[in-house]
Amino acid sequence: MGLVVQKYGGSSVADAEGIKRVAKRIVEAKKNGNDVVVVVSAMGDTTDELIDLAEQVSPIPAGRELDMLLTAGERISMALLAMAIKNLGHKAQSFTGSQAGVITDSVHNKARIIDVTPGRIRTALDEGNIAIVAGFQGVSQDKKDITTLGRGGSDTTAVALAAALDAEVCEIYTDVDGVFTADPRVVKKARKIDWISFEDMLELAASGSKVLLHRCVEYARRYNIPIHVRSSFSGLQGTWVSSEPIQQGDKKVEQAIISGVAHDTSEAKITVVGVPDKPGEAASIFRAIADAEINIDMVVQNVSAAATGLTDISFTLPKTEGRKGIDALNKAKTAIGFDSLRYDDQIGKISLVGAGMKTNPGVTAAFFEALSDAGVNIELISTSEIRISVVTRADDVPEAVRAVHTAFGLDSASDEAVVYGGTGR
Ligand code: ADP
Ligand code: ASP
Ligand code: MG
Repeated sequence: MGLVVQKYGGSSVADAEGIKRVAKRIVEAKKNGNDVVVVVSAMGDTTDELIDLAEQVSPIPAGRELDMLLTAGERISMALLAMAIKNLGHKAQSFTGSQAGVITDSVHNKARIIDVTPGRIRTALDEGNIAIVAGFQGVSQDKKDITTLGRGGSDTTAVALAAALDAEVCEIYTDVDGVFTADPRVVKKARKIDWISFEDMLELAASGSKVLLHRCVEYARRYNIPIHVRSSFSGLQGTWVSSEPIQQGDKKVEQAIISGVAHDTSEAKITVVGVPDKPGEAASIFRAIADAEINIDMVVQNVSAAATGLTDISFTLPKTEGRKGIDALNKAKTAIGFDSLRYDDQIGKISLVGAGMKTNPGVTAAFFEALSDAGVNIELISTSEIRISVVTRADDVPEAVRAVHTAFGLDSASDEAVVYGGTGR
């Protein structure tokens, strides 16, 4: 008898019908002889609605209280799901993150899991239950406060539990049939990927493919937990994310040269204007940002104007951290000695990802040609060994993604990619 962890995203449990449909699927897995642990997200867009509500009472809600509020979303779905399963004649018990032993650090709104002690889940399974765990939440080790793991964090809960319980597989059920070569909401001709390595998936996730959260893939790679991403609305095989290629018939699936195109419109750009061009300036700027616990993405320093000895430094960060970033820099303005700050939240990022880039010359050239043919202007560029990213105007993103997808021969000839649910919010 195996142990499987299944995670159902918000769009899969958007309403009572969805919860009943998912309950049937879970019971099937149990009937097939597995021990089943289910991680569930908040229903539909509940988390967004709760954030909107919080912002109506306070423009910058206190982190601790926001976590307390947001974790209510997953509590609702876990309890309803346990009820629906019992209604089908099976034993089920729901658990909050804290009850399930998800221990985190104390950084509110984006806590990191530092330990998982799933004693109660084990006992529930041993007693014949299906265990339902609220995703996206934990309890801080030092203060014993309720924390959340950052948006999309239920994916991480699922993989962390799968690792702690030594599960055979972590199944991530969502509203599309797997990981595609681009977001099916943007590229109708996106193709489903049968297998993708942890490395390529990490880059896609880090570049904005929200079908899997970056931290969840990091965790899965560290503990070597295979992930199967699939739809809760169809019975199709999805995408396997694992260290070794899967077998199809008597052949191994080949590693693609290019895995896909990702896009992200959740970032903003801060430009620090008029920075003295001398050692230590970049250090003080990014120290101020780091001390505010903000993660940055791309950095560009312009050539200094010889006449003035001043330069501009631009960097990107999550829009949700924009105000905090500006405040942190303004506080350090005298110490750093810059002229002014510019804030731009109308940017988008497009990334091309694939391990084959390392050994195939011309990928970068073809990427820039595709953008140029689509008339897209590039503002920032960054690369890794297996990724090229550019920042453009946010409005240009859909067109740019489609152009790059076509240029690299990723368009499928036949089926349009299906999106079964969700609002894409
Ligand atoms: P869930 O609520 O199940 O966690 P998410 O909305 O977080 O679902 O993630 C699924 C969505 O991710 C899809 O509906 C799709 O729009 C988006 N997405 C972005 N990039 C990709 C990709 N490369 N492949 C599949 N889906 C993607
Ligand atoms: N409900 C949370 C969110 O919307 C966590 C998740 O769905 O994974 O971000
Ligand atoms: Mg998600």
